[in-house]
Amino acid sequence: MKQYKIGIIKGDGIGPEIVDEAINVLDAVAARFGFNFEYHEFLLGGAAIDETGVPLPEETLKGVQKVDAVLFGAIGGPKWDNLERHLRPETGLLGLRKAMGTFANLRPAIVYDELVNASTLKPEVVKGVDIMVVRELTGGIYFGKPREYTPNKAYNTMVYTKEEIERIAKVAFEIAQKRSKRVTSVDKANVLEVSQLWREVVEEVSKDYPDVELTHMYVDNAAMQLIRDPKQFDVIVTGNIFGDILSDAASMLSGSIGLLPSASIGSKVGLYEPIHGSAPDIAGQGIANPIATIASAAMMLKYGLNEIEAADTIDRAIKKVLADGYRTKDIAAFDAKEVVSTTEMGSIIANYVAKV
Ligand code: NAD
Repeated sequence: MKQYKIGIIKGDGIGPEIVDEAINVLDAVAARFGFNFEYHEFLLGGAAIDETGVPLPEETLKGVQKVDAVLFGAIGGPKWDNLERHLRPETGLLGLRKAMGTFANLRPAIVYDELVNASTLKPEVVKGVDIMVVRELTGGIYFGKPREYTPNKAYNTMVYTKEEIERIAKVAFEIAQKRSKRVTSVDKANVLEVSQLWREVVEEVSKDYPDVELTHMYVDNAAMQLIRDPKQFDVIVTGNIFGDILSDAASMLSGSIGLLPSASIGSKVGLYEPIHGSAPDIAGQGIANPIATIASAAMMLKYGLNEIEAADTIDRAIKKVLADGYRTKDIAAFDAKEVVSTTEMGSIIANYVAKV
């Protein structure tokens, strides 16, 4: 029997509710495919502050290095908003990501046929959208030095090394090989030297992937094209700040924040989490949509454990649940046959995993 050690970080707000449902689905996958998942729970964010006084305890930092992959819910909430910056939940998450060394952030933007009306864009524009944004996560302007703030002048620095660009480009080309074999590299090479290097290096790396078609696009145009004609994109690869903005824009094509997963990979252990936050406004009410977290568990199986068939089974179960008209409250307005709670949604998907 295959054994996997899974790190579990439930976090705050709706985190525990949605992660519990993902675990239910993972247990169903384990039963069907003959795996054994051993879960190891770690504290982060507000829950960690309450328990230990700091948002990223040493035990969490050490623990995540000893598992095969980490599934995470979300952190944060008004209770901890007034703490000093270094003690806030978000600081814990940034620290964890940095310590894990996951330099590639994968953000799929998928429009499910059944929810095509949930998008603010016209159905014919978004129907069939299936984009993977590959964002560089540990470099660029968010981390570049020098950086300084004074009341009269402040600055940050956008830096990329050749190695940093090469490794993220490789991730993008390898993912594209398993999809429609098209990569769009997004930069601002007409204005920024750092983008000029980005473009040269991506071009160089592309020679190792002759089966993948590479195009380049300026970030301002990419923002327009994502709204105008999103179906033209397959894999988008870009730097940290451009990817931050474009992946959020792309995620809104689907119209519901509760559906979309993400993966941060590139080091020994990857981090898998929904794109949304801890939704304190609906925490504890049993109405949170667990699908984004369940889809994150599927990404964990695919990119972290290389269990492709198991991952595809979860994705099929999610599609079937939506096709059969089950909806949590956030998507109840779109062709619902039955509105279900967080736990009901998790159980139905887990049941489907055994069958689809
Ligand atoms: P949010 O994503 O938590 O919520 C935005 C809106 O979407 C809310 O109305 C919420 O109810 C709804 N929503 C989010 N997820 C949902 C789900 N699964 N099902 C149904 N509805 C859902 O963003 P926010 O309100 O800006 O932030 C709330 C807290 O989360 C803050 O403390 C913020 O710092 C934190 N946050 C954490 C992460 C993370 O842990 N990765 C990311 C973003 C925000």
